Amino acid sequence: MSATLLDGKAIAARVRGEVADDVATYLAQTGHTPGLATILVGEDAASAVYVGGKQKACAEVGIRGFDHRLPADTSREDLLALIDELNANPDVSGILCQLPVPQHLDGVEITNRIAAHKDVDGLTIASAGRLALGMPGLVPCTPAGVMRLLEEAGVDPQGREAVIVGRSNLFGKPMAQLLLAANATVTICHSRTADLGEVCRRADILIAAVGVAHLVKGDWVKPGATVIDVGMNRLPGPPPTLTGDVDFAAAAEVAAAITPVPGGVGPMTIAYLLRNTLTAARMSA
Ligand code: NAP
Repeated sequence: MSATLLDGKAIAARVRGEVADDVATYLAQTGHTPGLATILVGEDAASAVYVGGKQKACAEVGIRGFDHRLPADTSREDLLALIDELNANPDVSGILCQLPVPQHLDGVEITNRIAAHKDVDGLTIASAGRLALGMPGLVPCTPAGVMRLLEEAGVDPQGREAVIVGRSNLFGKPMAQLLLAANATVTICHSRTADLGEVCRRADILIAAVGVAHLVKGDWVKPGATVIDVGMNRLPGPPPTLTGDVDFAAAAEVAAAITPVPGGVGPMTIAYLLRNTLTAARMSA
């Protein structure tokens, strides 16, 4: 392998350390502890692990956690009432409702009930609009984490060709906005893109967020490119493994820098959730 490995685990640990210092400074200045409210509706095991990880990470940096676990049959009215209560609670700086929610609930409606200044996932229409208009606001955690990975790799997006494979509201679209704001020339690909390999070969910065294991081949990577693999695909095994959207071994022979899966983008997401919670506290103050 000739590429430099972008160690998301180590960089995320650094971000968490920075947030812990900033939380202590914020507390000293304002007498106020930032707080993150998480809402989990139902008993989905993977979602419970994610929410538990977020609460644990909060405690480690001095952010107060408000952990709301609701039964799967919680009514729309009760859930919206809880969000209204959290929106009004001055001890709660940020709110996130773990998606997906059970089928009788509308995830878009629920997410959009969160006040824009407490929207630490950056997924409300207000936050997406602010990002699109270049206004300050809360930015989705995973794309924010990717921008930090690029910075750590010494890659300035200005004037570079950036190609993002995947156009989700959660990742691909906000990622494109952030790269555009950093003056990259941005292309977004999706399932209907003609000759995906050819488009990817143009990329100085190639970002894959698809959910298809090893979709991006080694010969789709431009020599010297930076490759960011957002994909998290569980292969049944044995043994069961977690793998990305990029054929890592082949791409690492061509790229200048590449993220592994696991240990690349994943750890950055929670680190930037903590960062966003502190930003939200400052916005409320
Ligand atoms: P998503 O909402 O399912 O979007 C997937 C995107 O990939 C869609 O735009 C889809 O195109 C496109 N796509 C699917 N098959 C394709 C193909 N064969 N060729 C080209 N494009 C294709 O997924 P997501 O939420 O963005 O997540 C993507 C991956 O990133 C998943 O593995 C997820 O687990 C991972 N992820 C990781 C983190 C993290 O913290 N590490 C955070 C978020 C997501 P269409 O729009 O045309 O359908």
